Amino acid sequence: MKQITVMLGGNLAGTRDAMVRALEKFAAAGVSHIRISSVISSRAVDCVPDTPDFLDMGFTGFWDKSARELLELCQQIEIEAGRPAIHSSRESRILDCDIIFFGDDIINSDRLIVPHPRAKERDFVLIPLAEIVPGQKFPDGESVAEKLKKFKGVEK
Ligand code: AMP
Repeated sequence: MKQITVMLGGNLAGTRDAMVRALEKFAAAGVSHIRISSVISSRAVDCVPDTPDFLDMGFTGFWDKSARELLELCQQIEIEAGRPAIHSSRESRILDCDIIFFGDDIINSDRLIVPHPRAKERDFVLIPLAEIVPGQKFPDGESVAEKLKKFKGVEK
């Protein structure tokens, strides 16, 4: 049994409903003891001009199957929400599910990189994560809360 943390994001009209349905599906598929962050809104980063603002939230819970099976569940939930199976990471989307942490595991396979490589560089990831898993450590030994504090330090 691993504590897992997943981010849900999107920037289309149905995104908020898709997030609620996704949480129900993660629970139905066996993620237990789910705790969710707030939903935060942020400007699109690295996207074409006029891309709508994004909503992002995180959840943590416990999962007794593999990381690969969790990735497949994420992809199935994205597709059921209406996201094309083949998509660009910079285009508008109804729902994106990213695995941020899988226990303390470090995974570097063709299909899965965990902790998610962009997590520590994005305040819209760190802010929700700090609400639910502030003490979770990145491989460099720094916690989510410490990364967020540093990030804010850089931005101000
Ligand atoms: P995206 O465009 O953000 O939905 O990226 C999806 C692709 O990223 C998939 O093909 C996954 O195999 C890959 N990927 C690598 N690491 C992760 C991760 N930690 N969580 C989700 N997808 C990942």
